[in-house]
Amino acid sequence: MTRADQATAVDAAEVLARCDHLGTLTAVPGIVHRAYLTPEHAAANAATAAWMAAAGMDTWTDAAGNIVGRYEGADPEAPVLLLGSHLDTVPNAGRYDGPLGVMLAIAVVARLHERGERLPFPIEVIGFGDEEGTRFGSTLLGSRAVAGTWDPRWWELRDAEGVTLVEAFQTFGLDPSRVGEAAHDPQRVLGYLEAHIEQGPYLEEAGRPLGVVSAIAGAHRFQLTITGKAGHAGGVPMDRRRDALVGASQAVLDIERLAREMDCVATVGMIEVAPGAANVIPGEASFSLDVRAATDEGRDACWRAIQDAIQEFCQERRLVLSIEETHSAPAEAPAPRLVDAVRAGIAATGDDDPLVLLSKAGHDAMAIAAMTDWAMLFIACAGGVSHHPAEAVTEADVAAALDAFEAAVVSLVR
Ligand SMILES: [Zn+2]
Repeated sequence: MTRADQATAVDAAEVLARCDHLGTLTAVPGIVHRAYLTPEHAAANAATAAWMAAAGMDTWTDAAGNIVGRYEGADPEAPVLLLGSHLDTVPNAGRYDGPLGVMLAIAVVARLHERGERLPFPIEVIGFGDEEGTRFGSTLLGSRAVAGTWDPRWWELRDAEGVTLVEAFQTFGLDPSRVGEAAHDPQRVLGYLEAHIEQGPYLEEAGRPLGVVSAIAGAHRFQLTITGKAGHAGGVPMDRRRDALVGASQAVLDIERLAREMDCVATVGMIEVAPGAANVIPGEASFSLDVRAATDEGRDACWRAIQDAIQEFCQERRLVLSIEETHSAPAEAPAPRLVDAVRAGIAATGDDDPLVLLSKAGHDAMAIAAMTDWAMLFIACAGGVSHHPAEAVTEADVAAALDAFEAAVVSLVR
């Protein structure tokens, strides 16, 4: 019998094969790039729907373009357990960030289906269409629709080609006026569980396949601009300069030092200098800042310290700092009862005292947190590498994740 004939047997090798297949559904042949509401998104939804159907689920595309599969419970009226992750990717992505969580959730349901087992509650597996936000610049559109926190101001967001979100909805065959129908009634939801690669090095370094998430760090993003005075690179004496790039350079070093001291992560990922010529002193330097921490208090304290340090240096150098906040998301903590379920799941694989990890990356669970309780299972990835084609997981770790995710779901019956 071929694998395809064994419609309901989905082992770790099959989960990985499905992630590999999704990796071929891309805007750019040879690399993985799958954005929200694109033809490759539709292809990923179709492939995922077929796998969901083979696992005994009824499937549909929801009003925001997420693919959903429902496995009925013994009591169809009982609140539903949601399992999911995202199917979109960053440009030149790996194959596991997002899809692995969706494929594991389908494999868990496939096991129930194979045994002819109904849990007391229904399960809905969701493949979210947008988590990364690479097409319209706003993240978590798929999960925010499901959480009922869709913001009508997003309709006018445009992609790089100038296509608005409204137009993209219509092209995808969706009715923008019905997006609210993707939202769940919180009273009708049992909770949300998500499996995801760690995207950090700690599990691999500890020699453990699995971990449980303690919180998702909230990111604060700013655009900082330091203004000085442009001038002739030969004519202006060193002691009379107001060099904006020197100010920005000191800022980058202060940001790194303070983040280390205050147990945060802080990144300057983009910098631009004006006027931008080899023989002109920089008059203006503009750079991004992304700050994250386990708690909002810790993150805000780090940001205040960063601001103070930059202000002080700017004053000494007669530079002017201006700050624009571009993004802010609160830190989110999981629900203890669902964390216990994930712990029970990992314990079922032989690890009674699982590693507890702060997620410094954002996840769909952050958006779902507005609607229901959540918890997350992390899976080791090679070298902690993610958002890169070298992203890798082992079949043994995925097999452990499948056992743990199944045990976590079943533990909720009690
Ligand atoms: Zn992800």
